[in-house]
Formats: sequence, structure tokens, C-alpha cells
Amino acid sequence: MIDCGAFQGKRKEADRKNREWDFDAKEIDAAVLTHAHYDHSGLMPLLVKKGYRGNIFSTSATRDLAHIIMMDSAKIQARDGEFLKKQAKKEGGDFEWEPLYAEKEVIQTINQFVSLSYERPIFIAPNIEVCFYDAGHILGSSLAVFTINEDGNRDLRIAYSGDLGRKNKPIIRDPALIPDPDYLVLESTYGDRLHDSTEGAMEKLADVINRTVERGGKVIVPAFAIERTQELVFFLHLLTDARKIPRLPIFVDSPMATNATAIFKVHPECYDEETNQAFIDHHNNPFGFNELKYIESTSESKELNNLQGPAVIISSSGMCEAGRIQHHLIHNISNPVNTILIAGYMAENTLGRYIREKKPEVRVLGKWVPLRAEVAEIDTLSAHADYGEMWEYVRRLDLKRLKKIFLVHGENKSLSVFSDFLRRQGIQEVEIVEKGKEYLLT
Ligand SMILES: [Zn+2]
Repeated sequence: MIDCGAFQGKRKEADRKNREWDFDAKEIDAAVLTHAHYDHSGLMPLLVKKGYRGNIFSTSATRDLAHIIMMDSAKIQARDGEFLKKQAKKEGGDFEWEPLYAEKEVIQTINQFVSLSYERPIFIAPNIEVCFYDAGHILGSSLAVFTINEDGNRDLRIAYSGDLGRKNKPIIRDPALIPDPDYLVLESTYGDRLHDSTEGAMEKLADVINRTVERGGKVIVPAFAIERTQELVFFLHLLTDARKIPRLPIFVDSPMATNATAIFKVHPECYDEETNQAFIDHHNNPFGFNELKYIESTSESKELNNLQGPAVIISSSGMCEAGRIQHHLIHNISNPVNTILIAGYMAENTLGRYIREKKPEVRVLGKWVPLRAEVAEIDTLSAHADYGEMWEYVRRLDLKRLKKIFLVHGENKSLSVFSDFLRRQGIQEVEIVEKGKEYLLT
């Protein structure tokens, strides 16, 4: 089993998909987790709940981050369950919804992890070896390469991309080159898109802060608790040290982001050379500096509402749909001296998307409020390679040995655009994987 992710999105639809389970968990011999994101790790506890007792192989940073993500999901599900139960009671209806799994199953799942460093191959089943290579996507992310040798003669190598990252991302290394595979299973999230270059994000961030400080305002940044928050903290640390921004109070107001940052701190084996040179070589913590404060309690969070003068507040949820960010928005969004900085993906029909689109009025915590703050955007921090970057990666492999590329993990349009693109580059054997179909790899 490679990855066991959960669907996200509209609650009912996602819930139905997450409950569709057409195989026997007990028949699986080994499981591998490429990285911690919920759409890759979110159903591992359900696999365990359904009777899987084998090992789950991953890097140790992936195990630690997945722990937070799976636990957070179990807590949210428990809370949703309570809420739905109360509602059903009020309406006098029946209540049937059960969480997919509980915290105890997350703990059981964590117990089944076997963690491995990058490029340390290990047998996971007779004749099947796995080796992780840095995917450059998020902390601990990996491409998983399987080497199968059943007859003692020829290796069959199958590479599974997980989510492929990009060059020059802050903190983590660039995607590592894998040994030439016979088959490549490749993600297609941005199979139909090209990004702006990864450069310039830090300078843009400095500009936004400096002009907001000049107005005497605050910069409010909705950010995902894992990866984006740490990238921003990392940039702010560098900018502060280089005096490219004035010394001003910076707050990370999200318990999950604070926990995730602690994990980033204990996995320097995942840092790139620039991070080592800038911080580790000087015995310096990239994620801690004088101006920065991690907010824990709700009362401390509320105190930020009375804070006078310029500051940066980073908070989640990333798309502004829930969490403490909503309180910071309601207190700051209608004042033109402030800036709302959009630094990540905003899905359709989310508050974050409406802010990005600069709607004159937005609904925050159930109230309509005028959007008068500046809205700024940094859109260069995406963690997924675009199709150009994916091709850049694939073309370095031995294309004579490569028998086929299987495309997975993308919306229909990006899958078909990407497969056409790969054919135009001369890859004849490209196949979009169909759910339920079996493929024989020889
Ligand atoms: Zn991912």
C-alpha cells in the first residue's frame, strides 16, 4: 500500500468517498507513506482500524508530521460527531454518523511506523526493497523507489513520485534524482499549469511589510500550519537579521503551526545547504528569534486584538475557513492601514478566495464586513512542481529503460493535458491510471 490519503472538500461527498473501501486491509503486506499531507496520510488510521497490522515505512520527519495531521483529523471528527449528534437531537432525528477513526487508532497507527532516513534501502517484503529519495515537496517528503527481484537476475524498479516538489524551496532540499526506473508513477496536480519562478518571494514579503509598517498597520497572513508557516517564519528571520525589515513583533497564532514548527526544529537532517549555512553552522534556530512569539492560549490570542502599532500575525486556517485567523481578520480587515497577505492556495468558495478577489464585503464569523485593508499576494511558494518542472525531472531519467509513466493524483483536465504534453516530449507510453483497474508490471 503506497499512501492512504483522505479526500477533502465538500463534507458529504468527501465523507462518502472516504468510506468507500473495496479491499481487505488484512491482505496488505506492507505500507509506505511518501509524505505527511492529509491527502496521503489521512486514512492510514482507518487502514489500521480495519485490521492492518504490518509496518508503515516512512522518513522520521514524515512520521512526526503525519502524527500531528492524523491526530488533528481525529479531534476534528470527534468534535463534528458531537455537534451533529446535538443537532440531530434538537431536530428529533436519528443520528448515524460516526467518525472514520478516533485518537486511539491514530496512536496505534503511530506504533506501526518504521522510520528510515533518505537513501537507506530496506526490504519490506520478500524480494521487495524500498528506498526513499528527497521529493523536495514538504519536510520529510519522499519519492519511494521499489526494487523487485524475484529470480535473482534482473531488478524491476518502480518509482512512485508521491508529490514532486520544486527546486529552491526555502528550508528543504531540491528533489533528489532517483535511480533509473522501469516504471514511474507520477503525480499530476499541476499537469496543466506553470508557476512563477520560486525566486523573489522573500523580497516581496519585505516590500509588503515595509509599506504596511509605514502606514502604521498590521500584516495578517492566513497560512497553512505545516510548511507555509515555517517558510514565512524562516524568511522573516532572514529579513530581520539582514535588517531588510524593521524590528517588529511577529506572532504565529496557531497551536498546530506551533507543534509543526517544533517538528521542523528537530529534523535538521531535512534542511538544505543554505539553511545549514545561514543557521545551523551558527548554532542558530531557524524558527526562533527575539521578535517572534508563538501564541499558545486563546487568551493570549485574544490579547492580540488590543495590540497597538505594526505587527505581523500568521495564523490558520490557510484558507480562512475556520480557526483563529477569522478573529484577526474581523479586527483588521476593515482598516485600510492593514494588509491581508495571501501566501497560499485559496480554493473556490472559501473566504480566502473572496479576499484574494478583493470583494468589497466579506462574511467573517457570520458577519458581513467591508474589506478595506490592502490585499497583497505572494504566489511563488507552491510546493508542487508544475508540468515544466516535472518534465525537467523526468527527462534526466534513462528514458530508454523507462517502459511507461503512469499518471495519478490530478484532476481530469490536468491529467489529460499532462499526458498529451509528455507524448509531445516523446514519451510514447503514458497511461492515466483508472480506479479499480489492474496493471501488470514486468
Ligand atoms: Zn503533498
